[in-house]
Amino acid sequence: MADNGKSSANVGSKNDKVKQEDKAGAPLEPVFKENHLFVSVNDYQWPIVYRKEYNLGFLGLEKLHPFDSAKWGKIFNILKGQLMVTEDTIVSPEEALEKDLLVVHVQSYLDSLKVNIGEAVPEWSYAVAGITEVPPVALLPNFIVQKKVLKPLRFQTGGTILAAKLALERGWSINIGGGFHHCSSARGGGFCAYADISLGIMFLRKMKLIKKAMIVDLDAHQGNGHERDFINMQKDVYILDVYNREIYPHDGYAKRGISRKVELESFTGDEEYLSLVKRHLTEAIAEFQPDIVFYNAGTDCLQGDPLGRLSVSPDGIIQRDEMVFEWARNSHSIPIIMVTSGGYQQKTGPIIAQSILNLRDKKLVSCEAAEEYIKRSR
Ligand SMILES: [Zn+2]
Repeated sequence: MADNGKSSANVGSKNDKVKQEDKAGAPLEPVFKENHLFVSVNDYQWPIVYRKEYNLGFLGLEKLHPFDSAKWGKIFNILKGQLMVTEDTIVSPEEALEKDLLVVHVQSYLDSLKVNIGEAVPEWSYAVAGITEVPPVALLPNFIVQKKVLKPLRFQTGGTILAAKLALERGWSINIGGGFHHCSSARGGGFCAYADISLGIMFLRKMKLIKKAMIVDLDAHQGNGHERDFINMQKDVYILDVYNREIYPHDGYAKRGISRKVELESFTGDEEYLSLVKRHLTEAIAEFQPDIVFYNAGTDCLQGDPLGRLSVSPDGIIQRDEMVFEWARNSHSIPIIMVTSGGYQQKTGPIIAQSILNLRDKKLVSCEAAEEYIKRSR
């Protein structure tokens, strides 16, 4: 995710791990039994999850942040313009509510996002500003922050949880948003307010739909949020993380949660990057066979990204995504969910859209019923 390396909010409980899991055979808790996030999906809908509420309204504050706050809408509009999808052939997710977030988050952390500056203990006052890394956000009344920043992120979080289930049903899914990999159970940072990847995995585990998950985190930054969450669960959650070692977050404690760590130097280019990704995907799957792959497909490794500081070309990004889908779907038949994570240059959205179109052209993703439906309705 986007981060400028200067701040991260550290609030809430010291217990920075996901809560203890239920004993085997225990009945499902109400949050899973009456799960409003798992909306019903028609067979003519692509397992692509998006709604316009993903996009942030920043009241002009985006000018203070190197950030395209409409990236997600751009991706959707390009896919629509290319006639891959229509409004009714993608899946619209629900907002993750507090009861959903509590599956991973501690209450004290969620409470810390609700307070206005000056109303709480000092370290909490700046929680949201620290997470978004836009200091003036701290000066906004909390109801505006809730509406303009946190609500969109909760829709994207609901999107990841839903897409996780869709991946199991369809073999693959893409949440056009999500990938908040700096946020853990008790701590946000680097524009990540909710731990959507940890939530997706824990929903599937607690609903007994999967046991083992692999996170392939190719955002330019270390994914310290999910690493902290699963630090004591490496038997069941394997993390392959490829990141620039010279940038935020330098989270040494979280590194203990990584099963396979690939640290890059600044300005690593296509050839070295792609060959490292390929080699470590092969070696990871030889070590661990998951029931699902969570692919955190950050695009801040793109050349020119002021935060990621790597030198991967647009074509390199497209080849990378193709390689990951080919590996999961064709070589190993493992369901894969992709989330888009960091990378907010103005050109980033169009590159992600091109990459999704490429996956379709290479038949690595398909939905015949949706393609038929779109043809008929034209
Ligand atoms: Zn990042």
